[in-house]
Amino acid sequence: MAQFRLKALEEVLNREPKDFVREDNLVSDYYGKLVFDQPKMKKYLSKEAFSAVMDAIDNGTTIDRKMSNQIAQGMKSWALENGATHYTHWFQPLTDSTAEKHDAFIDHSEKGGVIEGFSGTLLAQQEPDASSFPSGGIRQTFEARGYTAWDPSSPAFISETTLSIPTVFISYTGEALDYKTPLLRALHSIDKSATAVCQYFDKNVSSVKANLGWEQEYFLIDEALFMARPDLMLTGRTLMGHASSKDQQLDDHYFSSIPTRVNRFMQDVENEAYKLGIPVKTRHNEVAPNQFELAPIYEEANLANDHNQLIMDIMLKIARRHKFRILYHEKPFAGINGSGKHNNWSLSTNTGVNLYSPGKNPKSNLLFLTFVINTLKAVYDNQDLLRASIYHAGNQHRLGANEAPPSIISAFLGTEVSKMLDLMEESVVDRKMTPDEKTALKLNIGRIPEIILDNTDRNRTSPFAFTGNRFEFRAVGSSANCASALIALNTVVSNQLQKFKTEVDELIEKGTKKDEAIFQVLKELIIASKLIRFNGDGYSAEWVEEAAKRGLTNVNSVPEALSVYARPDVIEMFENMGILNQSELHGRVEVEFEKFIMKIQIEARVLGDLAINHIVPVAVAYQTTLLKNVKNIKEVFPADEFEQLAGARLDLIREIGGHISAIKAKRKEMIDARKRANVIEEVIEKAKAYDETVRPYLSDIRYHIDKLELIVDNELWPLPKYRELLFVR
Ligand code: ADP
Ligand code: MG
Repeated sequence: MAQFRLKALEEVLNREPKDFVREDNLVSDYYGKLVFDQPKMKKYLSKEAFSAVMDAIDNGTTIDRKMSNQIAQGMKSWALENGATHYTHWFQPLTDSTAEKHDAFIDHSEKGGVIEGFSGTLLAQQEPDASSFPSGGIRQTFEARGYTAWDPSSPAFISETTLSIPTVFISYTGEALDYKTPLLRALHSIDKSATAVCQYFDKNVSSVKANLGWEQEYFLIDEALFMARPDLMLTGRTLMGHASSKDQQLDDHYFSSIPTRVNRFMQDVENEAYKLGIPVKTRHNEVAPNQFELAPIYEEANLANDHNQLIMDIMLKIARRHKFRILYHEKPFAGINGSGKHNNWSLSTNTGVNLYSPGKNPKSNLLFLTFVINTLKAVYDNQDLLRASIYHAGNQHRLGANEAPPSIISAFLGTEVSKMLDLMEESVVDRKMTPDEKTALKLNIGRIPEIILDNTDRNRTSPFAFTGNRFEFRAVGSSANCASALIALNTVVSNQLQKFKTEVDELIEKGTKKDEAIFQVLKELIIASKLIRFNGDGYSAEWVEEAAKRGLTNVNSVPEALSVYARPDVIEMFENMGILNQSELHGRVEVEFEKFIMKIQIEARVLGDLAINHIVPVAVAYQTTLLKNVKNIKEVFPADEFEQLAGARLDLIREIGGHISAIKAKRKEMIDARKRANVIEEVIEKAKAYDETVRPYLSDIRYHIDKLELIVDNELWPLPKYRELLFVR
């Protein structure tokens, strides 16, 4: 067998599960050990420094220079005691990962040696050399430098031996160059808008926070097999590989017993996560072979997203310890399920109320319905933007591929909540409610004193599903930074809540009673957003037709989906809401287009190379063996027996020849298409050219390679096959 592949398989078969050192017996004993959390701040900071941080966290006040010096000293002492030697600002540029640049805690001392130094300035602000981070041209237009600034709402932590300080990353003129800045703005916005609406119901509500519970799916592949697949190494997905005869047909992987090696890896990850205060809770096998999931207990959205970014990084590192490689790509293997990252999202008040939890009495039910209905309206009005927020090269393989929600945005409510909405829609006849109608409606709602939600009333085919006490945005890709989806979602809901408030206030001003005003506006919203509600099978062909009839949009191209960010109404909303201004949006969409182009370009190059230097040579070698065999038959046997003995062989030789020629021809065409695309100046046009003229070759060429894989002698095939990648562990 081809040397590399054989060696890799041997290596995997000899692997033993790796041990790791558990931190302590009880998680509660070491949870958050490496986090500079509130108890540690209390211990290491003066009273006034502590309350300055608390004030910054709770009320967004700025921390002055003197205070940040004090905080830095406390943080430094704690970090040094816990083995840190370096510090870094930890931020989330518009790449696919986080960024850090470590500096040692050393300064010249007055006596000539060095001392461990760390000032308030270094804590609060740094200037990483930002020129190599994508900005979509923002920095050219404005100011070359960018800086990172401390986000006190996400606590500092020690990663290996580095004190890591979560920060935003912005240009000198204040433009956001990262995911965190607009996320914080969107969370601030929804806090204000939701609080204002809550005030109709309860004057004690003074703040509302958004929560996020992510569910991270991923694949694990043995390191040796991974290294034998250049396509996995360079693009994160397999660009070729015939389907294994058996993969997920029997559903025998989902929730089945976790393999020991994988279980050790998971325990190791959990151990690290707990030290870093990440409340991971659930682990299980997913649908596809070698696919798994990890989910935490939900947290405040900004912190939860930092934790997701952090754990993705930790998992990459720990996977290596266990001789695995982790794949976050949305579609590493054709023909079997890919990976997503459900974003469970809710809003809760400072008074402890989850706004998406049905209440126990009519008043709290009305509060619940207010938030559900406004959310639906926001989703309906902004379906294109929500799609744009989750669309990229990797996720494109998944969406609408019968394993993930389609590229049509719809919302699932379940039978109970749908019934409530229908009831409200019918009860209120027009803007002027008669006292009877009002009572009827109150009673109708009141008649269901507690909406008992059936936990099995789930819909796994909906991109945006209500799941009892939260909405689950299920279309997010596994490799994504959740912030992209959360920025869009929180912004549009915040915007809708503001509109709602304006309309209700207008009615109240005209003399309508508060409750009645709320009812009336809600009813209008129910009617206006009805088309987004869909409780049926989102994967079915009928839904695609039905959605088209409803006028819901359905987009399957990345450039088209992303161009929504450049639409005037979208820009206007983001600007009005104070989330992203025009140049920030422009920068972002440029970065996304560039990423898309680069990803397709890399895939095209890798596939072209592998086709020529891995696949064609073995196909030729096998063809040569067949040819020799045919020659021998001709020499040994009489002519009248030749056709019977060698005929099938000749067909095979022709078939192989056909595939080789096709691969070579298509590769050449693909290179030409790339050359034509590369000279296009306008980035959106270039992205479209890559999408329409280069991308199709990836599957065209693959088709011929996968056919060859079936024909060519297994002994010669150079790359680990799907059956090996997915079942050998
Ligand atoms: P599943 O959707 O597979 O049934 P779980 O019930 O385990 O999954 O929940 C998935 C995620 O949803 C978890 O991270 C959980 O903490 C989170 N979650 C639960 N309730 C809420 C809520 N009110 N707001 C946000 N996230 C939540
Ligand atoms: Mg879920």
